[in-house]
Amino acid sequence: MTYADVIVDITAKALDRPFQYLIPEHLENEVEEGTIVEAPFGNGNRKITGYVMSLSHSAKIDPEKIKPILRVVTSLSDEEKRLTALAVWIRDRYGSTMAAAMRTVLPARKKTAARQKRIVVLAVPEESARRELDTMRRKHQTARVRLMEALVEEKRLPYEICAEKLHITSAVVSALVRKGLVTVERTRVYRNPAMPGEAALRDTVLNEEQQQAVDTVCRGWVNGPSGRFLIHGVTGSGKTEVYIELIARAAAMGRQAIVLIPEIALTYQTLMRFYHRFGGRVSVIHSKMSAGEKQDQFDRARQGDLDVMIGPRSALFTPFPNLGIIVIDEEHEESYRSEQSPRYQAREVAFQRAKLENACVVLGSATPSLESYHAAMTGGITLIRLTKRAMDAQLPDVKIVDMRGELPAGNGSILSEELLGRMEETLRRKEQIMLFLNRRGYAGFITCTSCGHVVKCPHCDVSLTLHKGGRLLCHYCGYETVMPKSCPECESPFLRTFQTGTEQVEQEISMRFPDARIVRMDKDTTSGKDGQLKVLSPFASHEADIMVGTQMIVKGHDFPDVTLVGILMADMSLNIPNYRAAERTFQLLTQAAGRAGRAGRAGTVLIQTCQPSHYAVQCASQQDYEAFYSQEISYRDMAGYPPCGSLVAVHMGCADQEHLSLAAGYVRQFLIKILGKAPVRILGPAPEPVAKIADVWRQVLYLKGGSPALLRAARNRLERYIELNDGFASVEITFDATI
Ligand code: ADP
Ligand code: ZN
Ligand code: ZN
Repeated sequence: MTYADVIVDITAKALDRPFQYLIPEHLENEVEEGTIVEAPFGNGNRKITGYVMSLSHSAKIDPEKIKPILRVVTSLSDEEKRLTALAVWIRDRYGSTMAAAMRTVLPARKKTAARQKRIVVLAVPEESARRELDTMRRKHQTARVRLMEALVEEKRLPYEICAEKLHITSAVVSALVRKGLVTVERTRVYRNPAMPGEAALRDTVLNEEQQQAVDTVCRGWVNGPSGRFLIHGVTGSGKTEVYIELIARAAAMGRQAIVLIPEIALTYQTLMRFYHRFGGRVSVIHSKMSAGEKQDQFDRARQGDLDVMIGPRSALFTPFPNLGIIVIDEEHEESYRSEQSPRYQAREVAFQRAKLENACVVLGSATPSLESYHAAMTGGITLIRLTKRAMDAQLPDVKIVDMRGELPAGNGSILSEELLGRMEETLRRKEQIMLFLNRRGYAGFITCTSCGHVVKCPHCDVSLTLHKGGRLLCHYCGYETVMPKSCPECESPFLRTFQTGTEQVEQEISMRFPDARIVRMDKDTTSGKDGQLKVLSPFASHEADIMVGTQMIVKGHDFPDVTLVGILMADMSLNIPNYRAAERTFQLLTQAAGRAGRAGRAGTVLIQTCQPSHYAVQCASQQDYEAFYSQEISYRDMAGYPPCGSLVAVHMGCADQEHLSLAAGYVRQFLIKILGKAPVRILGPAPEPVAKIADVWRQVLYLKGGSPALLRAARNRLERYIELNDGFASVEITFDATI
C-alpha cells in the first residue's frame, strides 16, 4: 500500500497539516510529490484539491479510515516542483499556512483567452514627425509631445508602455491616428512579441569600475551563475548597466533572469533600457495586472519565450526553466516585505530560490539594508563598490538647518528663514525646487520644541505614542505612563505633536511666492492609475517650479533643473516605534538629498531638523553610508536587534477585546513554559500601533534573542498548541519573522 500526505488547499490554520490518503493502484504511477489531486474531505466527502507533499508506505491512522485519492488533476512541471520546495521553505521560515505558501509561489492557473497585443507605430518619416513635434510644442500639447518624442526615438512602442509609463490616454493615441501620424497594429503575437524599435543593442561601454563589478560576479561562473553579491553604489553610479551586462551573460549560457525593482522606481527610461538590450525577450509584471495577465507572462516564461522578467516582489516566483540570476535593485526597500501571510522578505526568498536553482543573487542599493551590509561584512555576501557617478554628476552640497532656533527667533513657519531665502534665489534663477515632508512616523508621538527630545519607553528605546486621555503607550512592551507636563530632558513646557501636512506647506509657499507654479505629490494627488505621473510629468517638463511631496523615492526620473531640495521635519521618521527608525531615516534623507544637482549642475540640499546631531541625520548629510552603518550596527548589537539578534512577532487579532487579552495571556504563559531558561525575552503582549482595524482588536507579542532555529522551534510548538485548543478558534494568529 502506498499513501500520500496531502495538503488541502484551504487557508485555515486547522487544516494546515497533511492528511493521509490512499493511492489507488491505477494511480500509483501518476501520483508523486507535487502532484495536484482531487480527494474526498470531511464528513460529507466534499471534493477538494490538494498538493501531495510526500509519499509513504505506512499508515499513520487506522488504515480502514484512510480515504482514496479520486483522481490526478494535473501534475507539476519541474519548475513547479522547485517552486513547491520553495513553498515548503517559506512555510517553515515564516510560519504561514502551507496552502498560503503554495498560493504565493504557484498562483492559481486560470484559462485566459490569448490576448491581442497592440503596438503604436510611427506612421510618418522622422523628418515630418519632428516638424509636427515643433507645432505640438508650440501649442503646449504636452501629452502628444511626450508620445511623439518617444516614437521618434523608438519608432514602435507596446501600447501598455505608452499608457502606463508615458501616461498617454487612448484619446491622445486616437487623435494622432486620425491625423495619420501613428497607427496601432494589432497582432496575435503572444508567442512572439514585437520588438520595440529596430535600435536594439545600443550597448554602453562599461567603465572600469563597472567592468570590475561584472568580472567579480562572473568569476565563479564555471558551472553556471552562483554566489551572492551586493553592489553598493550611489544612484547614477551605473548599477543598472551592470545588471544588464550580467543578465546578457547569463542569457548567453541559456539561463534566465528575474529583476526585482520597486514598482514606484520602475520608470519608462529604466524599462526601455532593458527593452533595448533584450527586445521581446523581456517582460514586465506589475500590481495593476489581472491574475490572468500575469499568468500569460508566467506562461511565456515557462515556455522559454523570455530571458528576463522585471517586476515587484511577486516576479520572484516566475517559473523559468533554467533560472540563472536574480537581481534585486533598491534592495533596502520596504516593498520587498510582504504584508500578507506569508509575510516573507523577498531578499531571503531570493537567496533560497537561488540555492534551489543554482543561480546567483545580485543586490543593489545606495543605502543597503543593515542585514545585507552586515552579511557583506561578515562574509555571507561579496561586496562590490561603485564609487563614481557614471555620468559625472556632482554630489550635492548638504546643509543641516537646526529648527530649534526658529521658534525663539519668531518664525512659527515650518519653513526656515534659510530655506525661504534659498527658495527665492532659486526661483529667480528659474531653477526648480523639491520640498519633501517627512511624514513617516506621523502618529502622535511627543516631542519637545525647545530641545528636540522625544519621549521614549524606558524599556524599549522606541517612542511612546499618545492615546486618548493623555496616556502614553509603548507598542512594544505595553509600558504605559501619563503625558508629562514638561520635557523630562530640559523642563521646557513646550511639548507638542506636529500637525503639518503637505497641503499646509503648499498654502504657505503660495502665499510667500505667489508667482511660483506648485505641484503637490501625496496620497491625495497621486491616487488612481498613474496618479504619480500626472504630478511628475509636468514637473519634469518644467511646467512647475516647486514640487511639494511626501514620497521621497522618485528614482529614474531625471529633473536636471532641480538645484534645491528641502527636507522638512527630517527627524520625523526617527520616531517610528520600530528599531529600524534610524535606518529608515538615513535612507530617506540620503535618497532625497540625491535628487539635487543631477546633471552636472551643483545642487543644494537643506535638511531641517530638531535633532541635528543625530547620527542618522549627520551621516545622511555627509552621504556617508559606512559611518552610519558602524554606528547603527553597534546599536543593534547592543540592543540585540536584527541582524545581530533574532526577533519574531506573534500577531493576534480577535473581534472580542477581552477574549483577545485572555488568549494573548495564554500564549505568553505557554511561551514562558516551553522556553524555560532559554535566552529569549518575551515582550508583551501589547496593543499593536493600530489597536483595532475593521472591528478586529489586535495585539502583538515579540520573542527576542536566541537563535533563529530556537525561535522557529518555539513557534512550531506554539502553532500546535493553538491548533489543539478551541479557545483560539476565534483568534487569528500570524507570525512575522521579517520585522
Ligand atoms: P544606477 O542604476 O546606479 O542608478 P544607472 O545604471 O541608471 O545607475 O546609470 C546612470 C546613468 O549613467 C544612466 O543614464 C546610464 O545610461 C548612464 N551610464 C551608466 N553607465 C554608463 C557607461 N559605462 N557609459 C555611459 N553612460 C553610462
Ligand atoms: Zn526639552
Ligand atoms: Zn516598551
